[in-house]
Amino acid sequence: MPNPLPRPDRLVLWDVDGTLVLAGPAAQTAFDLAVGSVIGRAPGPHDVHMAGKTDPQIALEILASMAISEPEARRHLPAVLEALEKELEAATYLIREHGRVLPGAEPVLRRLASDPRVVQTVLTGNLAANARLKLAAFGLDRWVDLELGATGSDDGDRLALVAVAMAKAKRRLGFAFEPQQVWVVGDTPLDLIAARAGGTRCLLVGTGRYGYQELAGSGADAVLPDLTDTERVVAILTGP
Ligand SMILES: [Mg+2]
Repeated sequence: MPNPLPRPDRLVLWDVDGTLVLAGPAAQTAFDLAVGSVIGRAPGPHDVHMAGKTDPQIALEILASMAISEPEARRHLPAVLEALEKELEAATYLIREHGRVLPGAEPVLRRLASDPRVVQTVLTGNLAANARLKLAAFGLDRWVDLELGATGSDDGDRLALVAVAMAKAKRRLGFAFEPQQVWVVGDTPLDLIAARAGGTRCLLVGTGRYGYQELAGSGADAVLPDLTDTERVVAILTGP
């Protein structure tokens, strides 16, 4: 009998935007187009930032910027999110053209995918389809188990997503990870807050809206400028 593979003892939950990829301006434009197609008028200029937020949250903030009341915005939300998936899909070529994989992301994902100790998936505010599309645009979807991911399709509140991911892992894999076996990897203080809400550990990288210096004092378990030092990232995520 060959030795059975050891049971994985690490669940790595990757944020997408600013951590693994930058999708470029098309991803933002898709929100305005989706809102415009449902409401019948385009949003005016607004300064709704996307970093660390869920797709439903971003859509609601854009609707609010158009002086649409919250109850009405929530009524429109399902149609806006459906339109958003279509707009983003139509913009795939723009994402490929103007977006990019962040430094070191591919080698780290590939390396962890071959590590029997590790299960890796996403924890992202993107709708499930949008997360898949952004990763697939750059060939990264093959390295993560998207069936286990927690996304903006599961909950519009990012703070709920770690629990969603852990429950999915337990259901699909038949065993539970302890919170200290789980790492959230992200690029904003909101990723850290989501990790803490789930009792997990958190690695932040300075490749998104916030630089390394800004994140260094955040209280995350580890902070790196980027993912280029594969050995270091793997050591952090698989270490004691
Ligand atoms: Mg992010």
